[in-house]
Amino acid sequence: RMFSYEGPFFLAVMLLGLYIIGRSLRREQEFKRRQQNFLMAASHEFRTPISTLRLLAQTLQMRELSREKQLSYLTHMTHEIDRLEDLSERLLATSRLVQGLGQIKPERHDLNQVAGRCLARQQSTLMARGATLHLEPAPVPLPVDLDPEAFSLVLSNLLDNAVKYSPQPQKPVWVRLRREGEQAVLEVEDRGVGLSKGDLQQIFEPFFRVGDEQTRRTRGLGLGLYLVKNITELMGGRVWAEALPQGSRFGLSFPLAEAHSPVPERRPA
Ligand code: ADP
Repeated sequence: RMFSYEGPFFLAVMLLGLYIIGRSLRREQEFKRRQQNFLMAASHEFRTPISTLRLLAQTLQMRELSREKQLSYLTHMTHEIDRLEDLSERLLATSRLVQGLGQIKPERHDLNQVAGRCLARQQSTLMARGATLHLEPAPVPLPVDLDPEAFSLVLSNLLDNAVKYSPQPQKPVWVRLRREGEQAVLEVEDRGVGLSKGDLQQIFEPFFRVGDEQTRRTRGLGLGLYLVKNITELMGGRVWAEALPQGSRFGLSFPLAEAHSPVPERRPA
């Protein structure tokens, strides 16, 4: 007989099976827990400005206030309305993105150029938040097949995080490109709060946010890196994260397109 239903081999297979089932159940529970946390965080973010608005409106209705006081209450109300608007826009943008992921159209581009254009577009916004960007393009062209808009979303998420998780007033960020064998590699490096080994394994999962003080102080839904990973992989790329002695480094790689099939040039007819 090839296989017996007794003995150590069978027992080992059974235990392995039980272990795998147990692990996937735990993962599912963990995912549900995070989704629950996300919903609670999102509804809490909505509830706070709503109760503030109610309180201010009721006060305006019920009390005789000086013109000056009224104006300051109305300014406060406008501020809370802005907050609500920003929050609902971020939620909408995320769900639109998740739905639109199927429409990625890869084309041949030089990764140096795509990254350079993307950085140039975001430079002023990031500088206003205290960031100093250092772009180090590769000394060689990096022909890859990707959708520039989808790629720009990926890179802007990484840049946004690099700045968001750098609490110090000066926020240096490096964007380095290089060729590594048959891959084009791009890295985004910051000197921010950094990541622990345990966090590194989870940050790409949906709704995950590190549970520390600095993260709680920033706004986020824990979906950015999940989108980064999904979009990158849809374009045939890979993404990873590294913890540095100070700060973090995120890497993207895309397979280099064959040197024999360059971008088709447009010739005049
Ligand atoms: P969020 O909306 O919370 O920023 P992300 O999916 O972009 O969601 O990131 C998930 C978590 O990973 C963040 O909450 C943060 O704790 C951690 N993280 C992401 N980028 C960085 C970074 N550059 N430095 C330190 N921690 C980071």
